[in-house]
Amino acid sequence: MNQLPTLQSFIAGQWIGATAANPLTSAVNGKPVYHTHAETIDFEQSLDFARCAGQQSLLAMDFQSRAACLRALGKYLIEHKEALYAISAHSGATRADSWVDIEGGAGTLFAYASLGRRELPSGNLIPEGDVIPLGPTGAFAGGHILVPRRGVAVHINAFNFPVWGMLEKFAPNFLAGMPCIVKPGSSTSYVTEAAVRLMQQSGLLPEGSLQLVIGRTGDLLDRLGGQDIVTFTGSAATAAKLRVTPNLVANSVMFNAEADSLNCAILAPDVMPDDAEFDLFVKEVVREMTTKAGQKCTAIRRVLVPADKVDAVTEKLISRLAKTRVGDPAIEGVRMGALASHDQQRDVRHQVEALMTSCERVYGGAADFAPLGEGASDGAFFEPTLLLCRDPDAEGGAHDIEAFGPVSTLMPYRDIDHAIELAARGKGSLVSSVITRSPELAARIVPALASWHGRVHILDAEAATESTGHGSPLPMLKHGGPGRAGGGEELGGIRAVKHYLQRAAVQGSPTMLTAVTGEYVRGGQTYETEVHPFRRHFEELKIGESLLTHRRTVTEADIVNFGCLSGDHFYMHFDELAARDSQFEQRIAHGYFVLSAAAGLFVSPGVGPVLANYGLDNLRFVNPVGIGDTIQARLTCKRKIDQGKESPKGDPQGVVAWDVQVTNQQGGLVASYDILTLVKKLGVGN
Ligand code: NDP
Repeated sequence: MNQLPTLQSFIAGQWIGATAANPLTSAVNGKPVYHTHAETIDFEQSLDFARCAGQQSLLAMDFQSRAACLRALGKYLIEHKEALYAISAHSGATRADSWVDIEGGAGTLFAYASLGRRELPSGNLIPEGDVIPLGPTGAFAGGHILVPRRGVAVHINAFNFPVWGMLEKFAPNFLAGMPCIVKPGSSTSYVTEAAVRLMQQSGLLPEGSLQLVIGRTGDLLDRLGGQDIVTFTGSAATAAKLRVTPNLVANSVMFNAEADSLNCAILAPDVMPDDAEFDLFVKEVVREMTTKAGQKCTAIRRVLVPADKVDAVTEKLISRLAKTRVGDPAIEGVRMGALASHDQQRDVRHQVEALMTSCERVYGGAADFAPLGEGASDGAFFEPTLLLCRDPDAEGGAHDIEAFGPVSTLMPYRDIDHAIELAARGKGSLVSSVITRSPELAARIVPALASWHGRVHILDAEAATESTGHGSPLPMLKHGGPGRAGGGEELGGIRAVKHYLQRAAVQGSPTMLTAVTGEYVRGGQTYETEVHPFRRHFEELKIGESLLTHRRTVTEADIVNFGCLSGDHFYMHFDELAARDSQFEQRIAHGYFVLSAAAGLFVSPGVGPVLANYGLDNLRFVNPVGIGDTIQARLTCKRKIDQGKESPKGDPQGVVAWDVQVTNQQGGLVASYDILTLVKKLGVGN
């Protein structure tokens, strides 16, 4: 009788799977802990459900409400994180490893929730960039918009980060309004299954927005179309195979890959053994070798060291590695756990053998290596292994072979140009680190590394106090590298959301463009009423609602008073002779005076629904304002964003951006900007 739980797929709103298929074993002691399920998944049904129910429920929301949902999901996962830690322990992960996966995953939801709230509009369309006049009068203009793709995102993930790997892709695709189907790496899919169960149990997931595949993807890729996206994380070999799936090629299905990467860390020649940076370098290399037992796509595989410092670095690395306790993570003091499976253990052993044809072993490979813990000898442990490649210019070896475990290779270099050349021999990597004390050296090395790496991490004693480390992809920074690393891009703040949106150029009159984008385009139709726009509540304001103010002639007294008030006695405002010699040939008003005077023209001073002005965007002083010039302002409601927030006093409020144009007596633009305000919503106490 089968005593082990059978994992289930979550397809078309149902948990599927009652019959056990393949056993999944504990990485710690080799005992079976779960089974995959034997039932075949109907991918036609799964895709239909995503395209119908999934899209409908996601597009009934908007960027702002999906951002709020991500935050709530993150909170729910954190509240239930201990259940995930308990399951994650089977994968051989230490508490610290699981923290990166579980809390790092929830943290990514929080990060995207906050990015969405701050950077995305209400609605399901993002106007992108400036609208460009396309004719002499501005009656015909063009710009770009981004809209949710009407397809499904299929995420094929690696085994090493079963929670983070899912959530770092789910967060941006969810925010974009696209449903997804997630297929985790089988060996640790029990952790992903547990996370998806929690997300579903939370009651927060819109129907059809997330489906889970335990096991293989069957004919899923053959059923995708031009609105769908495949994202892949795993080996370069599988990426190369899946990328050319005939149906994906025939339908131009977007394929984003993040694959093996032979990342490097470079100890710059300026760092001496007594410098703090020398120890930081050693610490970073050991940390990358042992965290997650080296099963990180970003781990340091190649350690580039000036030839005359190889011995000193080796000695310190060995001393640190020797102190690393390897074994069952449940045991106090254990710093490195097991590889995720026996398959991985075999694979790493095999890759180390391949590396040994061009390297020598300087640490690891002990015949008496014995991980700590009961039954650990049956687990998937691997001793930290440091290799030395004395001829790094030779073809292949550590520039080609990735042992996906606690394995790194030291490589001596002659000078910094040689180091840069060796770094590029990885054929494109996710990340490189440069450890240097010299800003000049960093300025020279980093641009050269940047063309081959998705991220460059510069480490010195100053940064070390807060550095998140070589191996940590962050939600706000791009993750993904060129060439061998897969050529894809993930994360990077709002960039990642845009991967799931379709960009289209739109042309038309400013009035049409305003209607389409929901954002006032200059030249478009405006509305003026008896009511000052600042006296309207958030819901009452219409995009294009506008106010043309009275006029004001700028006097010398204005300039003198503003100079005295602000302390700004710049010659252009106060030195008649110097100003006459300047490009303006006269004294001019302070730009900030024009700004202040414009506010004086357009505000409605009494207490009203405008709660605060929290900044300006896109400020330009387009033309000078001289003594005797007469200015006038036009204020137009440009953009409204409902973030579902309240003021500190509990008033529901929304963000309103106002387009401001200040003109002179000839109608010429002198200042142009957007004002950002918080406007009270209709409700109690208005
Ligand atoms: P694979 O490339 O074998 O697998 C990655 C994902 O693809 C898994 O979910 C896997 O499923 C799936 N997959 C494999 N073949 C197919 C297929 N024909 N159709 C659809 N899906 C498929 O990598 P592994 O996870 O097994 O790791 C192997 C190596 O990949 C590691 O040793 C390491 O070198 C590298 N790797 C790189 C990572 C990175 O982030 N860049 C992360 C992890 C691994 P299943 O698990 O069911 O086989």
